[in-house]
Amino acid sequence: MSLVTQFGLPVYHFATGPYRRSQLQALQASGQAPLSVLFYHRVADSHPNPWTISVADFKRQILWLKQHCELVSLSEIQKRMREGGSHRPAVSITFDDGYAENNEHAIPFLLEQQVPTTYFVTFGNVQQQTAFDHDRQAGCPAMPNTLTQIHAMSEAGIEIGSHTRTHCDVAALKNAAQIYDEVIVAGEQLQQAIGKRIRYFAFPTGMPENMSRAAVTLAKRHGLDGICSAFGAYNFPGDDAFHVRRIHGDPMMARLKNWISYDPRKRRIGRAFEFAERAVTEQQVHELMDLLAPSTS
Ligand SMILES: [Zn+2]
Repeated sequence: MSLVTQFGLPVYHFATGPYRRSQLQALQASGQAPLSVLFYHRVADSHPNPWTISVADFKRQILWLKQHCELVSLSEIQKRMREGGSHRPAVSITFDDGYAENNEHAIPFLLEQQVPTTYFVTFGNVQQQTAFDHDRQAGCPAMPNTLTQIHAMSEAGIEIGSHTRTHCDVAALKNAAQIYDEVIVAGEQLQQAIGKRIRYFAFPTGMPENMSRAAVTLAKRHGLDGICSAFGAYNFPGDDAFHVRRIHGDPMMARLKNWISYDPRKRRIGRAFEFAERAVTEQQVHELMDLLAPSTS
C-alpha cells in the first residue's frame, strides 16, 4: 500500500467528514440513504492478497458496520430499492467464490453476530475440490468449501447463491448452451445439493464488461430474484431491484469507512452503463429463450 493511500485516505475521511455528513443527512431525510452491498472473498491470515482480508480486520469491519449501519439481507436491500423509505444507511454482506478457510472464523463470527449473509459459490470448484484458477496463478491454491460445508451453512441460515460453474467471464462465453450451463444449470445443481432454492446469481468479476444482457435476461426469465454486479456502486430506492450493485469489502478500514459513511464520488458510479455484447448475438438470445421454454415433447 502506498504512503499516499495509507495516510491520504484517513485524512480525506476526516477532512471531508462535515460535507459528507451533511450530504448523507439530506439523503436520509428524503428516504434516499444509500443501500450498500459489500462483497468479500477470503478471510484468512495466510497469503495476503487483494482478495483476502485478515480475520482481525474482518471482525473489526463487521463490528464497525454493526455500530454505524443497519445490517440487512439481500432481499431487504431489494425491498428498500422497490419501496423506498431508506432513512438509515443499510449494508448487506456477501461473499464470492467459496473458500474453505471462511468456515474457520468468518462464517462462525457472522452467525454469532447474527449478520444476514449471502454466500456465492462457484459450483464446479466446490464439487470437484479444485483450487480457483486466479489463486493457482497467484501461487496460493487455497481450497474451496466442500458441499457438506455449504449445506451446513445453508442449514445455519446463510443464503447460498450461485457464482457460475467455472468462474468464467460470462460476457465472453461463445454459445447459448454454455451461458445456460454457467448461469442456470450450475445453480440448479447447487440447489439440489443444498435442498434449498437458489435465489441469486453473482457475475464473476462483475464489471459491466463481464455481464451480458442475454445472461441477465436469462436469469430473470428463469425466475431468480436478482443478480449481483461488482461495480463498486451504491443502490438507491427507485433503482431496478433485480440488479444489485456491490462494493468490494476492502481490507483497508479507512476506505471502507469512506464508502459506507457515504462518499459523493461514488454516487454516480454504475448509474448508466452498457452491458458487454461482444460475444452474444440476437440469435443466441433467442436460443437461450428456447432453452428456457417449456418442453413440448
Ligand atoms: Zn468470484
